[in-house]
Amino acid sequence: MRSPLADGFGRRHNYLRISVTDQCNFRCGYCMPHEDMEWLPRQEILSFEEIERLAALFVNLGVDKVRLTGGEPTIRKELPVLVEKLKGIKGLEHLSLTTNGATLRSLAAPLRTAGINGVNISLDTLDPVKFVEITRRDHFVRVLDGISAALEAGYQSVKINVVVMAGVNEDEMCDFVRHFREHPVEIRFIEFMPFLANDWQRAKMVPYREMRNRLEREFSLVPIVTDKSAVAKEFQVEGFPVRIGFITSMTEHFCSGCNRIRLTADGRLRVCLFSKTGPSLRDPLRAGATDDEMAEIIGAVLSTKWAGHPPMSQLIQTNDRPMIMIGG
Ligand code: SAM
Ligand code: SF4
Repeated sequence: MRSPLADGFGRRHNYLRISVTDQCNFRCGYCMPHEDMEWLPRQEILSFEEIERLAALFVNLGVDKVRLTGGEPTIRKELPVLVEKLKGIKGLEHLSLTTNGATLRSLAAPLRTAGINGVNISLDTLDPVKFVEITRRDHFVRVLDGISAALEAGYQSVKINVVVMAGVNEDEMCDFVRHFREHPVEIRFIEFMPFLANDWQRAKMVPYREMRNRLEREFSLVPIVTDKSAVAKEFQVEGFPVRIGFITSMTEHFCSGCNRIRLTADGRLRVCLFSKTGPSLRDPLRAGATDDEMAEIIGAVLSTKWAGHPPMSQLIQTNDRPMIMIGG
């Protein structure tokens, strides 16, 4: 019998990304519509107990890595309490977080103690004025301090996520390497992706090859061998502890090794960043479904996963949610 976490192409899904909220304290234009979003009503969002039950179910089916994301996960009250609950799930080996970093000065240590192993922090510019233009919030200093707090808290991995956009921040790529070169962090340069209402244009996307050329004019990048399911092309910057990762979803997709599934804040399963959102797991859960019934639903959704996402030109039509509601 096929495992419920294998899809029709034999890919096994051991990595679950859970959005714990659709809300955010930032307003990054590449992630959400310009006008303010209408957030989901509170009762539609999964409770901590529901997240724990679903996570345990997925772990039972073979998941061993969970990433908490959002919206902005750290605005969910008592987040360390959820982390502690998840940490208690036997078989869950990696528990990580993606955050905008604005609240990490106070949360980095409690989240580490509660059980988060690795943290990805988004920072798209080192220019305080540009930061306000991108995020529409004046929190540049707080985010930099949040990154310091994460380094002090002793996480196994700290990554800086940079969405590279032409005419916005592509000229800062080498500045990022210079800024972080003495630290044991990975800077992940991400190709700008199209999502609902984020003004994506082909001309604003800086392709991987171009990003790499920019860096190699100044730094020597030594490839790091990663496993098949790794999304980033990773490099060591010669002579420094800092690493570089490129997320090349647009120009060199990595669908054949994909091991990721996503649970949205309202409990729907999404098998690909670029697919339509799948059915609700929250509703059968609230209606009292057994673990076997839930596993059957999950298996059916996974069997709909495509071999690879459509070409760039079509992606904007396949997305039914802005990135803020998917979770990255
Ligand atoms: N609020 C958290 C944060 O900003 O890190 C977590 C949620 S955010 C949706 C997750 C990641 O998606 C962030 O690193 C963000 O930069 C990235 N992201 C959002 N919109 C994107 C886009 N259009 N293209 C590429 N990456 C994007
Ligand atoms: Fe919020 Fe993160 Fe989206 Fe920015 S990228 S709006 S911080 S969810």
